[in-house]
Amino acid sequence: MASYCFTVTRLRLALGTGARRFHVSTAFSAKAKVAMSRFEPGSSINYEKMHENISIVRRRLNRPLTLSEKIVYGHLDDPAGQEIDRGRTYLRLRPDRVAMQDATAQMAMLQFISSGLPKVAVPSTIHCDHLIEAQIGGAQDLQRAKEVNQEVYNFLATAAAKYGVGFWKPGSGIIHQIILENYAYPGVMLIGTDSHTPNGGGLGAICIGVGGADAVDVMAGIPWELKCPKVIGVRLTGTLSGWTSPKDVILKVAGILTVKGGTGAIVEYHGPGVDSISCTGMATICNMGAEIGATTSVFPYNHRMKTYLEKTGRGEISSVADQFKDDLVPDEGCEYDQVIEINLSELKPHINGPFTPDLAHPVSEIGAIAKKSGWPLEVKVGLIGSCTNSSYEDMGRAASLAKQALDKGLKCKAQFTVTPGSEQIRATIERDGYAKILSDVGGIVLANACGPCIGQWDRKDVKKGEKNTIVTSFNRNFTAQE
Ligand code: SF4
Repeated sequence: MASYCFTVTRLRLALGTGARRFHVSTAFSAKAKVAMSRFEPGSSINYEKMHENISIVRRRLNRPLTLSEKIVYGHLDDPAGQEIDRGRTYLRLRPDRVAMQDATAQMAMLQFISSGLPKVAVPSTIHCDHLIEAQIGGAQDLQRAKEVNQEVYNFLATAAAKYGVGFWKPGSGIIHQIILENYAYPGVMLIGTDSHTPNGGGLGAICIGVGGADAVDVMAGIPWELKCPKVIGVRLTGTLSGWTSPKDVILKVAGILTVKGGTGAIVEYHGPGVDSISCTGMATICNMGAEIGATTSVFPYNHRMKTYLEKTGRGEISSVADQFKDDLVPDEGCEYDQVIEINLSELKPHINGPFTPDLAHPVSEIGAIAKKSGWPLEVKVGLIGSCTNSSYEDMGRAASLAKQALDKGLKCKAQFTVTPGSEQIRATIERDGYAKILSDVGGIVLANACGPCIGQWDRKDVKKGEKNTIVTSFNRNFTAQE
């Protein structure tokens, strides 16, 4: 309650002093108006303002900057006066946009309504993904969720319409996948009321998970405070190959840094190995940076991001990003607080856990480790998808394995569920026959929602408390999550 009252007071202060609206430089608008998304034609990308801020900070600090610094300092409220000391000072920032999932959006919207402001100050969106329980399959589970959560969905939809917030209805997809497909772009600063918001770092964005009160501040046009992050550099060399996937990069990093190793820091990937990773793969890596406590994670702008922007109908954004490329990659000679080196050519597929995401095991050793540790050897359920691993690339790999099994006359013995990250992914895997292969092998395609990942799973195959083994491509693995 204290934080609620505090937020409302700050909102009223903002109202009294004139809350800031979409902070778009008119100079830039006059030059090149590229909308932040196809749903927000009135809000333009402001690379010019970011460039101006970076130039001011660069003159003051007189040293090469990391990419994280460029994007974060590029969003300073007062670049000329702000005290900047990594790990010590607090920065006052102007994020470009806000994203909320349906569980956290309820309180955030109530608080925003209490402010009396007529509209949100920055583009914002609500995503209905957390309240859909997995039970039978996508269509039926979605229908039941709409009935059970009708009041919540109605509130969020009407509040969104009234205050100028985008609304993604249940079934449209998981917040982070929707952000990646529609709203993230290189250099944008986004805050989201969900811990895996950093997913957007795969598109060169600084996306940070926050509490609802912080989101309300930004929607009200109040500068947002963040302790000046340290920067951990992860230098990638070599190339990914074989069955090693982008997920193995972050499983390896988690094994090195542990669940607390990223606290107060942005993890910045760089080096020649970056180009061998797809944009959605980079998003997977950034998404799971939350498991090591990092403020967020980010990749430098490259041709993989450009291709992804073009394929998702945002070629105009990549064209303008090309013009500002120097601001979207780290400076030569920039200094990191810590550097980790990973040779992708030597990286092997990993499985992490159980009970903690930093317990990394090469797949080749997991059988022996399981026997030695006394874990149940029968895998009861395999779950793929979620916001972390439901890209077309991930689904394609799973479908390829399933096809090989089918060709040998094999079907799943264990339960197998598939959670597409968005309707776009679901429709694409349906169109290309992957969904059929996955269901032919015994998979159940669930709703485009969080489902089992958040514990929204009406599981019937084991009794509550019974020790059992499941394997997931999700980002979290804590005791009794499912
Ligand atoms: S799929 Fe899991 S990690 Fe992703 S937003 Fe939903 S609950 Fe969070």
